[in-house]
Amino acid sequence: LVSLRDVHLAFGATEVLKGIDVEVGQGQAVSIIGPSGSGKSTILRCITGLLRPQRGAIHVDGVAVHALAAEAQLIALRKQVGFVFQQYNLFPHLSVLENLVIAPVRVGGVPRARAIAHARELLAKVRMEHKERAYPGELSGGQQQRVAIARALAMRPKLILFDEVTSALDPEMVGEVLTVIRDLVEDGLTCLLVTHEMRFAEDVSDTVYFTEAGRIVEAGPPARLFGAPANPRTRAFLQRAA
Ligand code: ATP
Ligand code: MG
Repeated sequence: LVSLRDVHLAFGATEVLKGIDVEVGQGQAVSIIGPSGSGKSTILRCITGLLRPQRGAIHVDGVAVHALAAEAQLIALRKQVGFVFQQYNLFPHLSVLENLVIAPVRVGGVPRARAIAHARELLAKVRMEHKERAYPGELSGGQQQRVAIARALAMRPKLILFDEVTSALDPEMVGEVLTVIRDLVEDGLTCLLVTHEMRFAEDVSDTVYFTEAGRIVEAGPPARLFGAPANPRTRAFLQRAA
């Protein structure tokens, strides 16, 4: 569903991605781990078309993202790719339910009644159905993040990108958010996750990529990457992360 081939990206003279190859198959959960500044978020931003690589190819469901020129094509792409960040960016002046309804109605042209019914299904999935009338400011960080995940799903994207969605949370709320993501993965959601939660990455991923300094140092099934890392840099990183 997603493929990156030899993706190079520089900010001015600073090379940030130095030949990235990543594959995410339909229905797969793929994780990217690696030290701070290694380029993980930059990879995700390239997939949404927010950043354009200087070299290489990115395809999402057959669409050549690296070559999209018109704004309309980028908007169409972003409807297909959900993105959940570390900071839950809910609309503070809208209720939980309305946060989920607004984009499908305004951007997707979905009839309001249908968008509401779908929003309620999604809130149940993230265990937030009891809070549909609440406002974001009345929710805990973990609850807000679960709503943010439901909101990303409301556009029925083909895949969701998760960028360290638990990093800003108090430790006691990390589990509830990871449980929700795990349920979605079990339901067959295609997703690419950047995470510092090594045990979670090991549990849910079909493939794990380890990045360092703009390169994929090692990739493989989690049992191998975590159990028997082939590269000494992966080993050193995992020892520090443990
Ligand atoms: P973290 O784990 O801290 O989130 P990361 O792996 O997601 O790190 P990126 O955010 O992808 O790292 O950043 C990779 C490198 O690119 C960093 O050195 C960062 O300083 C640099 N960088 C990111 N965005 C920009 C930008 N807009 N302009 C210049 N440099 C940037
Ligand atoms: Mg990042």
